[in-house]
Amino acid sequence: MTEAPIYLYNSLTKHKDPLIKHEQPIGMYVCGPTVYNRPHIGNARSVVVYDVLYRVLCHVYGKNGIIYVRNITDVDDKINEAAIQRHCSIQQLTHEVTQQFHEDVAALGCVSPNHEPRATEHIAEIIAMVERLIASGHAYESDQHVLFDVTAPATDHWHYGMLSGRAVEDQEAGARIAVESYKRNPGDFVLWKPADAQDDPSSRFDSPWGVGRPGWHIECSAMSTKYLGVNFDIHGGGADLKFPHHENEIAQSCCANPHSHYARMWVHNGFLTVNGEKMSKSLGNFITVKDLLDKNVAGEAIRFALLSAHYAKPLDWNDKLLDDSIKQLDKLYARIKNVPQSDVPEPAVLEALCHDLNMPKAMAALHQCHDTQLQASGALLGIIQNYEQWEKYRIFRADESKKITAQSTLSHEEIEGYIAQRKVAKAERNWAEADRIRALCEAHGVILMDAADGSVTYSVT
Ligand SMILES: [Zn+2]
Repeated sequence: MTEAPIYLYNSLTKHKDPLIKHEQPIGMYVCGPTVYNRPHIGNARSVVVYDVLYRVLCHVYGKNGIIYVRNITDVDDKINEAAIQRHCSIQQLTHEVTQQFHEDVAALGCVSPNHEPRATEHIAEIIAMVERLIASGHAYESDQHVLFDVTAPATDHWHYGMLSGRAVEDQEAGARIAVESYKRNPGDFVLWKPADAQDDPSSRFDSPWGVGRPGWHIECSAMSTKYLGVNFDIHGGGADLKFPHHENEIAQSCCANPHSHYARMWVHNGFLTVNGEKMSKSLGNFITVKDLLDKNVAGEAIRFALLSAHYAKPLDWNDKLLDDSIKQLDKLYARIKNVPQSDVPEPAVLEALCHDLNMPKAMAALHQCHDTQLQASGALLGIIQNYEQWEKYRIFRADESKKITAQSTLSHEEIEGYIAQRKVAKAERNWAEADRIRALCEAHGVILMDAADGSVTYSVT
């Protein structure tokens, strides 16, 4: 265990602050996924960034020196809408997507947090926090809703806008859409909202204010407090969560626990674009982790690419970035091929990581370090994990055009027929059908492999 001071850019103080070690374990809460669709690479960037931070903290303070909590938001309007669109129950949807999330982030080498609380399993804690906010005059009930009053008086450690710098008046002046009649102020946000009679039963919860469901922000306040206490060290998430999500989390937590300051450090990772554009389904540039894994891109290579820029800066995803990452990892793997295992990382790599997770500097140091320290440094970053898996991946790439003809209950013609059918399904964006064909082939021991140029090969297991 090495003692090294860790500095992180704190969005609250707008400085690189040293992480002060407290007697109790360091608590880190990171906003996790809302489980309504498969994680895209922008979601993955956030998970990978905090995974590296967790690994660095574990390296410096020991595994018992930190408690890492990442939640699952499994009740949300977006989930209700997605379940209706997919004609399935909310439970079916959230279980399926949670499993997909776990599979995808595991493929990227992310370790599991110590706690992964689900919002639906913490309704009692959420209701208790809302009740405290009503009792202290920070929240009010109106037309079956409970709302946080952003004009409520400041507390010892809190005033509204302290994270984002947005003043309450700015929101009033900027409100272009009609304000809901049940709100006292345009910036007031929902702590609890009523459910519709036709809503899926698993998104309907009894409360003192009628049957309903919690707002998104209060979920994170209640779950972080339950596992880390009213004051803890690090709160992380994407830059897009700073306002309103994190601003509102601070408001709720500081007002429900009047003398608390909630999280000391707020860490935000930057946006991810694809070929210079915002990723969106309508632009057709939406890339999921699964899309890449299905093309036999190794998880380590995706992870390496996601870590190529400083975490707080924007990252542009493109084919060149991925190709360069594969080439660099190839070189690193070739260097450590016959090197004995080591668990001592290069000091320069660790130092760069401890200084606000300076990934570009850490990567530069990685290329310069001795082979034994390269292995340990790569392991610290989680990019060199499974040598055998990487070798297998290299063989896949080298033999892309070769068809392996082992025994299968399907003939070569049948397999080619399925590949053609799946191509049609994919062209029609019928992903369910494409997945069905893939699963059908797998059931017969045939693994379909999508190459980057759109061609498909297969191997028989
Ligand atoms: Zn959150």
